[in-house]
Amino acid sequence: METRVLVTGASIAGPAAAYWLARAGCRVTVVERAPVLREGGQNIDVRATAREVVRRMGLEDAVRGRNTGEVGTRFVDEAGAVVSEFPVGPPGAADGPTAELEILRGALSRLIVDACPDTVTWRFGDEITAVEQDGDGVDVTLAGGRERFDLVVVAEGPGSRTRGLVFGDEVRERALGMYITYGTIEREPQDDDWWQCLVVPGARQISLRPDDVGGTRAMLTFRSDSPVLEGLSPYEIRRELCRRFADLGWEVPRILDGFEAADDLYVDWLRQVHAPTWHRGRVVLLGDAAWCVTPIGGGGTSLALTGAYVLAAFLSQHEPAEAFARYEEWMRPLVDDAQRLPPGVPRIAAPRSRAGVQALRWGTKVAALPLVRSLTTKLTAGPAADRELPG
Ligand SMILES: Cc1cc2nc3c(=O)[nH]c(=O)nc-3n(C[C@H](O)[C@H](O)[C@H](O)COP(=O)(O)OP(=O)(O)OC[C@H]3O[C@@H](n4cnc5c(N)ncnc54)[C@H](O)[C@@H]3O)c2cc1C
Repeated sequence: METRVLVTGASIAGPAAAYWLARAGCRVTVVERAPVLREGGQNIDVRATAREVVRRMGLEDAVRGRNTGEVGTRFVDEAGAVVSEFPVGPPGAADGPTAELEILRGALSRLIVDACPDTVTWRFGDEITAVEQDGDGVDVTLAGGRERFDLVVVAEGPGSRTRGLVFGDEVRERALGMYITYGTIEREPQDDDWWQCLVVPGARQISLRPDDVGGTRAMLTFRSDSPVLEGLSPYEIRRELCRRFADLGWEVPRILDGFEAADDLYVDWLRQVHAPTWHRGRVVLLGDAAWCVTPIGGGGTSLALTGAYVLAAFLSQHEPAEAFARYEEWMRPLVDDAQRLPPGVPRIAAPRSRAGVQALRWGTKVAALPLVRSLTTKLTAGPAADRELPG
């Protein structure tokens, strides 16, 4: 009999799981809380094992076709002069800060959804409100009432509500004390195809990155001991960003102006998700809902793609309990590695003092030296770059 799977969350992990589970012969329904596919988001990268997953999905060319065109990462000073640079390596080389496969998050999500077999059922604007399970299946309550599935895959991102219903408060969130705010601004002639990053005193970073749709993607990052932007209206968030960044030159006034008009302002209070286990009975956590590593850990999208593949591979070979255990055993070391931040991170990435900023700039200069770069690339190559995928 066909296994009926409910996947909840349609961003990266959910659609990728739907793809592989449907290919394995499961009858898959995907439920997404938003009324339509959320196509926002900025530059994300596909690294290491996830490149192989994308290749096996037949999407490598499509992902390359939507490459943001970023040619590398440059640290700059307040005058815009280059402090250090990390160009993208030749095809097949290990990835540096800018990966070979860089794509807008919404574009990747759309590609995966469109690649899913027609047998996948999509339900937008709905969400689980109750979960009950027994040895044979899971009863979930959705807007239309109660329905029964054999398995539920929770891919709802770091703040997952269904995770709370099933795992209670045993899942811990670790705030990193840092905000990243993202928005799209108009591209101007001085914008090139480098990711330009300015680190300034006051624990702040400013970034500009190219996209493939004629805009420029801007990021304002700052450290904060508490989630000061939570609960604020978009207007209040913009005011708070002006207050924190208005003293700066370079492209900052333009970014603040651009954020006034941006309709995709996205605020991320960085928090890692630590779950002692990723499965309970017939319910399993996947992607950021299970292990959010944040952009500081890096590779969240790659881990989501890899996790979806690994989960489906083991489910196609074993009973759910055994499959979930093997999935967790396979993924844990990758996640632990991504969540284990080097000492002092994220503090040293956004120092408060001018001396700290100078030290960081020198550090990036050293890291960019050809001899040292092969070592630093090991830090940015992505999850288990050389590990064989199961199945
Ligand atoms: C709109 C958006 C923009 C993003 N922009 C960036 C970015 O610019 N840079 C970056 O590094 N990362 C970004 N991310 C995060 C990035 O997508 C993830 O870190 C990574 O790809 C892993 O994805 P995920 O599918 O596990 O979780 P997420 O990408 O967080 O997706 C979770 C999905 O579940 C849905 N959902 C939440 N709760 C429920 C519920 N109760 N029922 C049903 N569905 C639910 C959400 O609407 C979302 O579609 C963004 C995520 C989103 C949703």
